[in-house]
Amino acid sequence: MSQLNSQLIPEVKEFLAGSPLKAVIGGEDHTSANGGTCATRDPGTGEVLAEVSFMQPEDVDAAIQAAQAAFDRSGWSDLSPQARGVLLHRFIDEVEKRRNIFAQIEALDCGKLLRQADSDVQNFIDTMRYYTEMAMHVERRAPLAVPHYDAYTYRAPVGPCAFIFPWNFPLLLDGWGIAPALAAGNTVVIKPAEDTPLSTIYLGRVAREAGLPPGVINVLPGDGEVTGAALAKHPGIRRMSFTGSPEVGRRVAEACGRNLVPVKLELGGKGGAVVFDDVDVEATATQLVQAVTFHSGQVCCTATRWIVQKTIYDRFVEATVKCLQSLRIGHELQRGVQMGPVISEKQRQRILSYLSRGQEQGAKLLYQGETPPAEKAREGTYVAPALLAGLLENVAAREEIFGPVAYLTPFEDEEDAIRKVNATDYGLANSVWSRNLDRAHRVAEAMEAANSWINAHNLFPHGVPYSGIKKSGLGGGVLSEQALFDYLRATSVVRPRE
Ligand code: NAD
Repeated sequence: MSQLNSQLIPEVKEFLAGSPLKAVIGGEDHTSANGGTCATRDPGTGEVLAEVSFMQPEDVDAAIQAAQAAFDRSGWSDLSPQARGVLLHRFIDEVEKRRNIFAQIEALDCGKLLRQADSDVQNFIDTMRYYTEMAMHVERRAPLAVPHYDAYTYRAPVGPCAFIFPWNFPLLLDGWGIAPALAAGNTVVIKPAEDTPLSTIYLGRVAREAGLPPGVINVLPGDGEVTGAALAKHPGIRRMSFTGSPEVGRRVAEACGRNLVPVKLELGGKGGAVVFDDVDVEATATQLVQAVTFHSGQVCCTATRWIVQKTIYDRFVEATVKCLQSLRIGHELQRGVQMGPVISEKQRQRILSYLSRGQEQGAKLLYQGETPPAEKAREGTYVAPALLAGLLENVAAREEIFGPVAYLTPFEDEEDAIRKVNATDYGLANSVWSRNLDRAHRVAEAMEAANSWINAHNLFPHGVPYSGIKKSGLGGGVLSEQALFDYLRATSVVRPRE
């Protein structure tokens, strides 16, 4: 931590000095059953930030018992939505007071630019408030108009809900996941990713300080194959929400299937951007460069396949190369930096391997940036952005690279564009770029994914359901009213009319 020490705010220093950091179970700090820990590092320097206690199956069991006890006996699940709302707002206020602490922890643990980490903290706060308010206004009893009977449905919380998250947006995804579950009156058990457990552990502590009943929020850092697997197969959970790769998602769904536990999967993507020749070429190129370099391209839904009309293809390539050449790469806390490191050496090697395999299969390398000397001198895991071009039957065009790499291909006409954008196993998000809004809407509706954006990429307003289809997910409804109802079970109540 020598390189960073002077930049750390005192509360972050104090938090990291508590290493090894523990789980939060039933409101208490909890050390793993076998005492095992694992280091979490700053991807920008490679330095260890803290050791973290990694939970074993018996610790997972303890967390689920704590969540069940809080559900059954703390009064949390029986509170009126208004009374629960008061507690949740108090918790959100405590997060907001510590906004800069959360942002610095998140930036360092993920290698995420500080301003982006700060916006993730704001997003967490907004999502929590959105669902807290919604829960206060949702009718739990819904009358059913049927002849000869008085009938209605009644909705109640379900019990302990489990969440497994990836490393790219830890706190933001915490919010997307747990906000509807908590607002509905459930208790939660969260398993953050191995590489980025810090903001979620800190969140567990803030929940305790804010006075949420012990066991309402439990945080289980640990290994996917151990802690994650034990959580997914635990019969005590009532709902599972998994965000991560399709490969692991399938295993989590299998484990939940055995216990008949409903599972929601938010998985990977290979987002397309269809660019018609009536756009402002420079402005669109700038926006797509921003999309593919956003968090160093480690964004599930970002635009990674750029399908560009033949008539503007060369101009478009020229404009994107120009934008990439001026991109400032550096440490996530450094001012003026536009792109930080990638999460780990493993991820760096994965991206570089796609670049070489893509070329071996015939793709042309249109551009590859350079990592600045100052960053090369550190032990951080930097990957400069790159552009590949060629046919879509290429490993770099088919598979999720999860780095700052775009794959370009030209198209002839609208029909050709739709065929090309849909030539993928994924179905998360695509965008279409055109001044002709009739055409843009036509293409938006023809693209086979759960999210279609027009003249922008990466849009997540609260109230608009976000989800994935095909290899990108199952369940969906994130950020919308649907997710709140996913965490409420319905009972039908019927009485014959006299
Ligand atoms: P990953 O699937 O490797 O890991 C995700 C989580 O699963 C981690 O917490 C990990 O510890 C855990 N895990 C690993 N093995 C497990 C097992 N056997 N049982 C239970 N849990 C296990 O994914 P990642 O590399 O952390 O994240 C990148 C992936 O996440 C990409 O595919 C990306 O597109 C996807 N993602 C999707 C969304 C979305 O909203 N659709 C959002 C962010 C990331």
